Amino acid sequence: MISIRTKKGYKLNIAGEPSHELEQLGRPTSVALLPERIPFVKPRLKVKVADQVKVGSLVFEDKRNSDLVFLSPGGGRITKIDFGPRRVIKEIVVELDQDEGYETFPIFNEAQVENIERQMLVKAIMTGGLWPLFRELPFRDIAAPDSIPPSIIVSLDTNEPFQPTPEVYLKGKIELFEFGIKILQKLSEKLFISTSQNRSFVLDQLNSYVTHICERVYPADDPGVLLYHIKKSPDENRAWYISGQDVLLLAMLFKTGKYPVERTVVIGGALVRGKKHLLTRIGVPLNHLTKGRTDKTEKARHIVGGIFKGYKGGKDSYMGFYETSLVLIPEGGEKEFLGFARPGFQKPSRSRAFLSFLNKSALPMDCNCHGEERACINCGFCAQVCPVDILPQFTYKCILVDEIEEAIDHGLLDCVECGLCTYVCPSKLELCNVMKNTKKACYLEQL
Ligand code: SF4
Ligand code: SF4
Repeated sequence: MISIRTKKGYKLNIAGEPSHELEQLGRPTSVALLPERIPFVKPRLKVKVADQVKVGSLVFEDKRNSDLVFLSPGGGRITKIDFGPRRVIKEIVVELDQDEGYETFPIFNEAQVENIERQMLVKAIMTGGLWPLFRELPFRDIAAPDSIPPSIIVSLDTNEPFQPTPEVYLKGKIELFEFGIKILQKLSEKLFISTSQNRSFVLDQLNSYVTHICERVYPADDPGVLLYHIKKSPDENRAWYISGQDVLLLAMLFKTGKYPVERTVVIGGALVRGKKHLLTRIGVPLNHLTKGRTDKTEKARHIVGGIFKGYKGGKDSYMGFYETSLVLIPEGGEKEFLGFARPGFQKPSRSRAFLSFLNKSALPMDCNCHGEERACINCGFCAQVCPVDILPQFTYKCILVDEIEEAIDHGLLDCVECGLCTYVCPSKLELCNVMKNTKKACYLEQL
């Protein structure tokens, strides 16, 4: 087991962290797939409104590779297919039947997994709709099924305070996880399994599997950060990664022959009552998660997918295929009277301009930027937190003047899109978004 020392990153101390309590939610009335939220995919619809589907029925395929399929997370009737600008498919909604039917897939036991050819295993995962769980660094597209990765990284947790912890989602499922690992071992000879320091549950139960222990700072255990610290040659850049929770899904598919839809998600943030882990399913409506937990009169921003990496979700929308976190924080936006003259004891900030640096308790976060975008003041905060040693301020400036080659030389492709540089920037520059979009453009150009 190797300890990874990350000198940078940030120890987040944001109010509204979920507890380790797990509540099993009842069935929602509908679920949805959100193709728009699956990066790089070009969906080709295989259903229309009013069609009847089962759990695991084909809903859409990727035009780039028609074997890459996305299956229904519920059994019932397709009631809505929502198109956005330029006919981007935003939402495919399934109204659930009382008695949901299931498509069936082949069942494998451990001996069969051990003896199966790699190619057949890949085919079984693809037909079972779970291939999209494998993503490829550095661009984070879905892994190419016909390639062999230099390694597969399994991230058991993130140091983001609003994501499910392995203590909760792995409880009672260690054997299932071990079976999932056996499947991964067939896909790559090199398997790295990382967790954070002080995860005693994980270290007790999975001691023989964990290969790397990361520091407890955000985002030390992101697969991109781990790879940055352990890679020895550029050939290793194209590693695949999968989350610990998704390893369980793989194992469930093979054990039960049914498309698995179970998801442990967290609900947290300053505006939530009863912040905890919830056992629910893929594509659940946000209002099913928030029901009875929020004050309706409060203006809340729904952030789906994590406080830094997530996106703004409408309160009537759904959780995406990959998302396991919902955070509700105040919209903010109202002007603070003489705000500049206040000590800012409660304002979370890396800057010492506010007295909050003396306050060690968890601080409430809202969407207020406390000012507008202005020129970079070369404070260097972004470089001090960047976990992969990019100089975000210089990389950003290269991109602005269209010097993309130079930005790549600065390490643009190592960017793990963690959002820390944007968070700490006193000039309110959207550094992370600019890097992310440029990386995406580089990838599309390559394709
Ligand atoms: S450049 Fe910004 S978003 Fe990218 S890894 Fe560094 S801190 Fe994170
Ligand atoms: S944190 Fe913002 S203002 Fe400071 S150096 Fe980085 S980009 Fe410039």
